[in-house]
Amino acid sequence: PLTMTITMNFCGNCGQKTTTKIPLGDQQLRQVCSACGSIHYVNPKVICGALVVWENKVLLCRRAIEPRYGLWTLPAGYMEMFETMEQGSARETREEAEAEIEIEQLYCLYNIPRIGQIYVLFKAQLLNGQFGAGEETIESRLFSEDEIPWSELAFPSVERTLQHYFADRKNNHFTTHLETLGSRTDHTG
Ligand code: ZN
Repeated sequence: PLTMTITMNFCGNCGQKTTTKIPLGDQQLRQVCSACGSIHYVNPKVICGALVVWENKVLLCRRAIEPRYGLWTLPAGYMEMFETMEQGSARETREEAEAEIEIEQLYCLYNIPRIGQIYVLFKAQLLNGQFGAGEETIESRLFSEDEIPWSELAFPSVERTLQHYFADRKNNHFTTHLETLGSRTDHTG
């Protein structure tokens, strides 16, 4: 988790103790190794995911992991090295919902500066109507608008994305939404 990285006090390069200081020419406090001089930067993480649509319904997954065990979320997770955002979203959807998607558009971008996260969510079509539950998912389900479990959603980003989707669908105009959210919860998965 992020808090571990921030309070890390051993050098990932040489194993010696680090100290908290502002390196020369920098403006921020960093963990700096007093032995080898390595500066351990901590930067925001990118989370990729998809709002998956099938006919007039959207696909949600019930989390089988903490945090927010048992609550509903969009298939999403940390972007991996050597993949694109689209590949990351398709991979997470495959892993969490056992579903294949066709990406339609970049849909929601969220800054969550408080926890150093950036969300990239695509609007996508479910390819063949098939889906399941991966290891991090209790169950997946397609929801029509009046079935959405608004009080059992795992994260503010999920709620916002669904709000945007149903509003855009009424207007028959899907644009890209960029917002800053004030979440207190870490998203893992
Ligand atoms: Zn070191």
